[in-house]
Amino acid sequence: MGLQLKNTYTKRIEAFTPPAGGGPVTLYSCGPTVYSHSHIGNFRSFLLADVLRRVLEQRGHAVRHVMNITDVGHMTEDHLADAFGEDKLAKAARELGWDPYQVAAHFERSFMEDAMALGLKNYSGREAHDFELHPRATAHIPEMLAMIQRLLEREYAYVDSAGQVYFSVASFPEYGRLSGKVLSELEVGARSSVRSEKRDPRDFALWKVDPKHLMQWDPHSPEGWAPGEFERLQALLPNGVSSAIRRGFPGWHIECSAMSRARLGAAIDVHTGGEDNIFPHHECEIAQSYGARHAHGAAPNFSRYWLHARHLLVNGAKMSKRDGTLITVKALLDPARAGGHPLTDELARAGFPGGRVPAAVLRLALISTPFTQPMNFTVDVLVQAKACVDRLQSLYIRLRSVRGDQAASDTIRDLVASALDEFDAALDDNLNMSQALAALFRVISGANQRELSAGDALLVRQFLDRADEIFGVLDHAVLSGTLSKAELEQTAADPSFDVVLGDVSEPATIARLLAARLVARKTGHYARADEIRQHLAANGVELEDTHAGVRWRRR
Ligand SMILES: [Zn+2]
Repeated sequence: MGLQLKNTYTKRIEAFTPPAGGGPVTLYSCGPTVYSHSHIGNFRSFLLADVLRRVLEQRGHAVRHVMNITDVGHMTEDHLADAFGEDKLAKAARELGWDPYQVAAHFERSFMEDAMALGLKNYSGREAHDFELHPRATAHIPEMLAMIQRLLEREYAYVDSAGQVYFSVASFPEYGRLSGKVLSELEVGARSSVRSEKRDPRDFALWKVDPKHLMQWDPHSPEGWAPGEFERLQALLPNGVSSAIRRGFPGWHIECSAMSRARLGAAIDVHTGGEDNIFPHHECEIAQSYGARHAHGAAPNFSRYWLHARHLLVNGAKMSKRDGTLITVKALLDPARAGGHPLTDELARAGFPGGRVPAAVLRLALISTPFTQPMNFTVDVLVQAKACVDRLQSLYIRLRSVRGDQAASDTIRDLVASALDEFDAALDDNLNMSQALAALFRVISGANQRELSAGDALLVRQFLDRADEIFGVLDHAVLSGTLSKAELEQTAADPSFDVVLGDVSEPATIARLLAARLVARKTGHYARADEIRQHLAANGVELEDTHAGVRWRRR
């Protein structure tokens, strides 16, 4: 059947086709606005992009994934196309007593930590530090002004007497198509701003002028720009920017139009976000990007597919900062540091000490509901996710210890083959993650019900590896590790140190055994040291002594 995706733009399920000209699939995701720690609802939409990317890669497509960082221009009243209120960064700066750039740097770092913990592929390895793939809005002001200038020249935009620039909605008849909003709804929703020289109440600002704003750029003077940035603007616009535009800052929508174009080109394959981005943010992006690039015959929509994650509720209610029900990723991963979270006590009672949720469990919880359905986040969901991760992990470890040379049985061969079909079909079906998880569990249950031959173990492991390329929850650190002599000595020095020759599925248990072995050797108890080594070997853990410490590995 091939991959089918629900395209918000056409409201249809469509077959995914790779880009016509070859080359990587270009994927743009609206990233965080870095004025606070990201909450679990934000991450549901970031994880949609991550899962899509993993599926595309598993199908053999190269993917170029750009996720921006919004660090200016995102106003508090962002449900309106022409958003007003206070810049979220400026508000946080005022509340924290920092400057907005400090706020942005602090919360961008916080976001990166969360993204790494939750296994976002675009924050792993070298990609994590590739600024081309994580463009900051404040580093793309020249591109935004160049796009605004182009929109003015093509009469998709106009400047008011204060030097603000507006997009003229009337110039783009397709406006409203993505969100399905009709003219009357758009007019009702539009609020005339303080300086109302707008030609149409639906028009929205591309460039804002407000002398009180803390982050400003003067398009006509090099003063106040970061080094090299004004020169870049001049290179992009040798004839300069319209003299009617005054010192100011960009609107949120133009940022993503300019950054996606700068990093991925004028037309892209897939654009993702949360459902609250559909209107106004993505509706406005489509209008701007079209106006800036349109040529005879160009499609009205610069992205072929639009995917949106539906909203997330906690215990059936919308999260609210004011009511104290907002749950950040940080708070769940490390409640002690974050000062707790609304579910701390309930989670502690449900078997999460201190209310702490392991990152793999949170990741699985956030991706296991199909993205086109709203998700209700509860303690129960986390309990189930934890059980899933634990069962997956312990089976994976068990598979490593199966030895011998017997071939695979027909039962396991058939089970894995049919589960693999079911798994692929589930992902093809608009990334149906709950169905994909069901296929995975069919294999786990089947494998747990019988003695496995080496051939069986290999087949099951191959399936789990394939499933985990998408789920991304297996902890490979339980498969090998290196411990220095200093670490082992520290472990042995712990007053609660004791050792039993039992289960070795936890890396911490292995560390304790290795520490005991070191102590035994140092005190001349060589038989005890050998006994420990033999116990580990019997449980599939091989040791290699190095000059610095011990390397262990599960077979
Ligand atoms: Zn965006």
